[in-house]
Amino acid sequence: MQIQFEQLLNLPDIQILNVEITEHEIKCDIESPRGYSICHRCGQKANKFFEHGETLTLQHLPICEKDVYLYLKTKRYRCLDCDGHPTTTERCEWYDADAKCTKAFADFLLRALVNSTISDVSIKYRVSYDRVRGVLNRYVRGENDTITSVGGRAPPGRKKPPPCAGSRWRVSTPGSRVRVA
Ligand SMILES: [Zn+2]
Repeated sequence: MQIQFEQLLNLPDIQILNVEITEHEIKCDIESPRGYSICHRCGQKANKFFEHGETLTLQHLPICEKDVYLYLKTKRYRCLDCDGHPTTTERCEWYDADAKCTKAFADFLLRALVNSTISDVSIKYRVSYDRVRGVLNRYVRGENDTITSVGGRAPPGRKKPPPCAGSRWRVSTPGSRVRVA
């Protein structure tokens, strides 16, 4: 049985344009075949292709010990319903452009942080300290903040938390461990 590389990445709405596999990395040029963005003015679908926007570099889950980087060629679309036909760059749910990674990778880092230090995770997964710290700051706000769950899954042996409850995360100072209670 052959498996498409798209299936291995397990991301919705992507098309792979090119894959380069090196000793330590897998680099994929990808684009979204979705065909529209959400107009920033009216909130409706803008589906008249205008031009390619910036290429985003997004780190994704490692495959066979290789770091995976996705190069997403974004597209800009015109809204024909709004005056002046404004353009909007497409954004998809599965990545976090500011954190420069997929949400699956952010979840992966958060799980790796349980009972570990930011430095541990940074070294083990070859991600910069600032990137790990950034993900932690973005998804867990403040000490003892509450998040609903990591990756939508409850820890083994626990009931899945109700949508508004969730796990209690103790956010550590640099060098101390991050705990989930
Ligand atoms: Zn519009």
